[in-house]
Amino acid sequence: MIKKLLIANRGEIALRILRACKDLGISTVAVHSSVDRDLMHVRLADESVCVGPPDSKQSYLNSPAIISAAEITDADAIHPGFGFLSENADFAEQVVRSDFIFVGPKPETIRLMGDKVLAKNTMKEIGIEGIPGSDAPIENLNDAKKIANNVGYPVIIKAAHGGGGRGMRRVYEESELEEAISMTKNEAKLAFGNDSVFIEKFLEEPRHIEFQVLADSFNNAICLGERDCSMQRRHQKVIEEAPAVGITQEERGRISDKLINACKKIGYLGAGTFEFLYQDGEFYFIEMNTRIQVEHPVTEMITGIDIVRQQLLIASGQEMTYSQSEVQLRGHAIECRINAEDPVHFTPSPGKINSFHAPGGPGVRMDTHMYNGYVVPPNYDSMVGKLISYGNNRDAAIRRMVNALNEIVIDGIKTNIDLHKNLILDEQFQKGGLGINYLEKNIKKINNNYA
Ligand code: ADP
Repeated sequence: MIKKLLIANRGEIALRILRACKDLGISTVAVHSSVDRDLMHVRLADESVCVGPPDSKQSYLNSPAIISAAEITDADAIHPGFGFLSENADFAEQVVRSDFIFVGPKPETIRLMGDKVLAKNTMKEIGIEGIPGSDAPIENLNDAKKIANNVGYPVIIKAAHGGGGRGMRRVYEESELEEAISMTKNEAKLAFGNDSVFIEKFLEEPRHIEFQVLADSFNNAICLGERDCSMQRRHQKVIEEAPAVGITQEERGRISDKLINACKKIGYLGAGTFEFLYQDGEFYFIEMNTRIQVEHPVTEMITGIDIVRQQLLIASGQEMTYSQSEVQLRGHAIECRINAEDPVHFTPSPGKINSFHAPGGPGVRMDTHMYNGYVVPPNYDSMVGKLISYGNNRDAAIRRMVNALNEIVIDGIKTNIDLHKNLILDEQFQKGGLGINYLEKNIKKINNNYA
């Protein structure tokens, strides 16, 4: 069993990992930048090490500093959380080479799945289809034209190593193709250090549905069902829920079986998510996230399985105690991502939280590092918490979310709570099963309806 774990992250997820460690009796080391000394998990950790200045390149992305911190504190494992170094195969490799346990899959799996083209090809071989498009990075304009003509416009140019909803560009006709490819390549080079791009058919009105898996080192794999993450703005998730409205037990079972098989074939280890776009009754694989995801709590609520705890047990070399038949989905859960941002203009709103009150009661969970007096720094992602509601059915989860959103107090900074209130009360949202463009297309109406 892991004895001492270094948490290579910050904010809400760092606190979530710390809590799972405390639950299992694992000692904790927090690493933080100089502006993050007062983070809640830094205060609660057994030890803490400042690994650099506020700029994440020099702190949370500074692999040598993080590995040194593990060495000096005598930690035996490193949990990367999400974002930062969590899907960096080189980092995972350095961690393993330095004789620490990396809480996540093997470095080669991260590398394979980190390349969306390779990932799609691998999944295709296993019988899981992706969106029609290129099966190799774009080499020249002629090939690109052929592929785009084959699948039909509109198409989307995507960075093979992209993430965070960036590095994507829609193309409606051939005359736009050349410029779109070169712009996406430039962006990809800058943002991801790799300019490889590929083409996919652009799906007009899909839903984003993803499946959570867990796999251990004994070749056991289970699927914890799906989440619907279609409520997005700029390809970034705003509200997630589980299960997905309208997905039948037959569809869920069929995809789960395929994904369990996929995990075994690729030797997957730990928690992972297979992401799909769903349109006209078909699932199309888009990518795999080889780490814990922001939205994991909705799955925890409907399965009763603590996913972070499972990550730690699996990384410790233990065999999973759950079998697929023991995974029972019960009720419905919804998560609202609470961001420190203007609800109308979406500009970041860092600053001091004068007063914070977390909602509570049955079926309400708040994962956050906020506290009275906490100062949200301007240097990082604007997410300051996740509000999760659970009920016997979707209506009950919605009612609890409305009450929780009315109860929460975050005073001192602007947040997107009003947007969440408006969206949760939106008639179409309440019907469920909306596509990925709904929020963005209707955001003005949604915000004005209840203003
Ligand atoms: P990232 O790694 O940046 O999250 P993904 O490939 O997972 O990128 O896609 C993120 C989002 O972008 C999807 O949830 C969807 O909203 C949109 N998207 C991606 N591919 C397509 C496509 N082929 N057609 C339409 N929308 C897409």
